[in-house]
Amino acid sequence: MTDNTIKIAYLYEDLMNTYGDSGDVKVVSYLLAKQGYKTQVDNISLDEEFDANDYDFIFFGGGQDFEQTVVAKDLPRHKDTLEEYVNSGNPMLCICGGYQLMGDYYKTNSGVTIKGLGILPLHTVFKADKRMIGDTRYMTEWGEVKAFENHSGQTYFDNTDKLHPFGTMIEGYGNNPQDKVEGLRYKNLIGSYSHGPLLKNVNVGNAIVKMILQRHKERTNNEVQSV
Ligand code: GLN
Repeated sequence: MTDNTIKIAYLYEDLMNTYGDSGDVKVVSYLLAKQGYKTQVDNISLDEEFDANDYDFIFFGGGQDFEQTVVAKDLPRHKDTLEEYVNSGNPMLCICGGYQLMGDYYKTNSGVTIKGLGILPLHTVFKADKRMIGDTRYMTEWGEVKAFENHSGQTYFDNTDKLHPFGTMIEGYGNNPQDKVEGLRYKNLIGSYSHGPLLKNVNVGNAIVKMILQRHKERTNNEVQSV
């Protein structure tokens, strides 16, 4: 039995969607449609049930500090299922605020520390003197990416054996003003500060679609076997 519906979970779509990040999900759906697949996008919002095993792709977009505070209170319910999904090498894309919340913490402007999920060993600190805003350009394993960033949080990796940057900067800031790198690649999770949306860079979009189709094949085979 083949199932041609790709299931996408959009974490807190109603709260985490700054600068058109939902465009990333639209690009993925478009690229999949070109290959004959349908997509079902579920908005997993506050208090909603969620099991990552049911999905082929998980998207977590950017958000302002206030929305991040609201989301961070609800998020710990999903830590185990997300951790297992990510550590098993399944595809996930986290942008800006979503990327920050997958780490250990985000210390905001007001001195409040928002606790993250702690799945990725990284932390983020708000620096009022340096808002990183403007065009970005960087090189990834899939070629060059052009995007836009707008954040005050500066992200630092706490375990550089486990985490690797997504790209090396040509223009703009990326994770922070010192390291000259953009985002993160951990297994098939990509974290990034890129809006625009990021996946208008179809070189990255196509690479993610490949991961999604692999995951879809494995997930649906498992389902058939367990019937
Ligand atoms: N509020 C976070 C920051 O300023 C994230 C912003 C965003 O997601 N665009 O760093």
